[in-house]
Amino acid sequence: MVFLPVLIFILGLIIGSFLNVVILRMNTGRSATSGRSACMHCGQTLGWKELVPVVSFLGLGGKCRTCKAPISFQYPVVELISGIVWVALYAHFPVAGWFSAYSWLSFAFSVVIASLLIVLAIYDVRHKILPDSVMYPFMLLALAAIAVKGTLFPEFSVTGALVGGVWVGLPFFLLWAISKGRAMGFGDVKLALGIGWLLGLSMGFAAIIIAFWIGALAGLFLIAIAHTHSMKSQLPFGPFLILAVLIVVLGDISITQLFPPIL
Ligand SMILES: [Zn+2]
Repeated sequence: MVFLPVLIFILGLIIGSFLNVVILRMNTGRSATSGRSACMHCGQTLGWKELVPVVSFLGLGGKCRTCKAPISFQYPVVELISGIVWVALYAHFPVAGWFSAYSWLSFAFSVVIASLLIVLAIYDVRHKILPDSVMYPFMLLALAAIAVKGTLFPEFSVTGALVGGVWVGLPFFLLWAISKGRAMGFGDVKLALGIGWLLGLSMGFAAIIIAFWIGALAGLFLIAIAHTHSMKSQLPFGPFLILAVLIVVLGDISITQLFPPIL
């Protein structure tokens, strides 16, 4: 059935377009849900033809129809990321028929979490801050999932899951404390704790290790090839952690797969 993935991709694009608005309006005093979208440059209100995800950006050649000011690449990029992530999560969490409430709820949960993480990652790139107004809902949902699993599956250890999250957050807490906030922000500590609750000890640690690998590669690239950064530049770590979460979830990667036990 090809139709459903296409529908889910389009839904992901539309949500991505909403996430852009949230990212751009957060902490500016403007409501994310009310007020018409307008050109950031000339203030011209945008019609629906200018608000179709990705298509409008391409159709307008990346420029405002009225004042020809360039439109931020963030718009189509976040829309595409959201659409692709929705389809990837749909493919990964097989929905067992239209009437399987649990599998639809799992998918819905995964896209809500993904949306919060996309906002955190892009906001961190723009402002080097992981805002609490998005972080706390993410952490609460991770805790809620632990509570649901503990209720549905008697063999699931709620205490183990809570303690596992603390272990995943601990290295970041130590980095934050020892460097007095220079190597890691406290936002990264909260993010790692939430990831630990979301993924558990094994996948959580796998995500941390992959995040450091991606961070090192990205740092090397930016310093040695793109020449946009120096050794003293600080890269926000949140986006690497969030990309690593996606890789670990979609690849079902646990710590033992990264480091097979030596026999
Ligand atoms: Zn304009």
